[in-house]
Amino acid sequence: MSGAPTMRAALLSIGDELTLGQNIDTNSPWIAAQLAERSIITVEQRTVADDRAAIATAVAELSLRADLLIITGGLGPTEDDLTREALGDVLTPGQALILDDEVLRQITALFRTRGRDMPQMNCKQAMRPCTMKAIRNFNGTAPGLIGRLGVCQIVSLPGPPREMQPMFIEQALPHLALPPVKDVVLAGSVHQLGMGESDAAQRLGVMMHRSRNPLVGITVSDAIVSARVRATGVYDRATRELEETLAEIEQRWQPYSFGRDITTLAQSTGALLRRAGRTLATAESCTGGWLGKLVVDVPGSSDYHRGGWVPYSNAMKSSQLKVPASFIERCGAVSEPVARAMAESALAQSGADDALAITGIAGPPRDDLPSEKPLGTVFIALARKRGGSAYTLVRHFIFPGDRLTVRDRAAKAALQMLRFALLDQPDDVPLLWEFVALDPNPPAIRSHART
Ligand code: ATP
Repeated sequence: MSGAPTMRAALLSIGDELTLGQNIDTNSPWIAAQLAERSIITVEQRTVADDRAAIATAVAELSLRADLLIITGGLGPTEDDLTREALGDVLTPGQALILDDEVLRQITALFRTRGRDMPQMNCKQAMRPCTMKAIRNFNGTAPGLIGRLGVCQIVSLPGPPREMQPMFIEQALPHLALPPVKDVVLAGSVHQLGMGESDAAQRLGVMMHRSRNPLVGITVSDAIVSARVRATGVYDRATRELEETLAEIEQRWQPYSFGRDITTLAQSTGALLRRAGRTLATAESCTGGWLGKLVVDVPGSSDYHRGGWVPYSNAMKSSQLKVPASFIERCGAVSEPVARAMAESALAQSGADDALAITGIAGPPRDDLPSEKPLGTVFIALARKRGGSAYTLVRHFIFPGDRLTVRDRAAKAALQMLRFALLDQPDDVPLLWEFVALDPNPPAIRSHART
């Protein structure tokens, strides 16, 4: 295996709109991905406000930690655009910015092609620290800047992505001293649902050592636990090792792992339905169609999805899905018998081979909830035709989180239950969030009492 990449980059995003949360920084992820393709690892990303001293401090600090510093934003003509001045403070302390006549000509000409005179304010965009060179902007007025502080190469680009991206590729990259692309950095991911993050990490064991190449890390987003893998090295070897690592993770996370990279749980479950030649119907109460939405998000889902019901009131559960009113009166709308009846009715009425039903309490918190049905209580039923017979599995969950989170997790857990069934997994594969009744007489206590 060839060594790790030698070039380290830092990214600095500038703007009050970013630090105040009014805009999301999309420049940094984009630039980091571009750099990774060129064997340059981004080691730090920082965001600072339109504050000259803060920008200067960030430039000084980051240039000590990286070989390449890419800055975006703050190159406009207004008083709050301070990147040029801050760069001058750090690169050429005590010296005034200089006017770049060539850049001034270009900006003046750009305004003329738009049929306008250049506002005086825009002269500012032709100023630069004397040790930096201007980079032309073919998509706006703000030129970029390129220079050096010690061993660190510095590139300053305009903030708007449609100006920044072409300038980075076409104007900045050709002027940078970049490492030869002998090493590549390849990335991939494996996703699973239903096993907690720490159990998932435990199953990976030494694969998660920080010195390993490929490097493996775990992230969680919307209940999906993902192993993110980064392989560094010459192309063929990195490709092979990435594939081996991804396959090993998939194997260690069986049967919870459902796909790689951009694959969704609904895609992977849909592919199994298609392969088995089976069809699906849904009956949703608390998820309000969310499960159907996830299924239909997948192009081509009409191959296997028959459709569904979204009966929210008890009356509609009875009129549309023939749930006996006595079940609802006796056990409540959020109960095992009601989930079962919804799934079995959806199966019978749709003619599908599999039917998923969801009924639950999604929140917000209320005082009148019975203690045995706390917030987040959800029953999910899977009714299936198998051979000449049918069977129904109902599982009882307590999902943590707010109304949206409970509903999202419930829809995903339903898909995972179906996926397990399509893979002929046992009905009792443990699922995170499943309600497990405490044994009133746990064996340890009984044996303790005897001795
Ligand atoms: P301008 O000449 O447009 O003022 P600029 O270099 O001064 O260019 P900013 O004023 O900092 O850039 O930002 C202009 C706009 O560009 C922002 O309002 C925002 O829409 C977008 N932008 C800036 N930085 C980012 C970023 N990091 N990610 C995504 N969009 C950004």
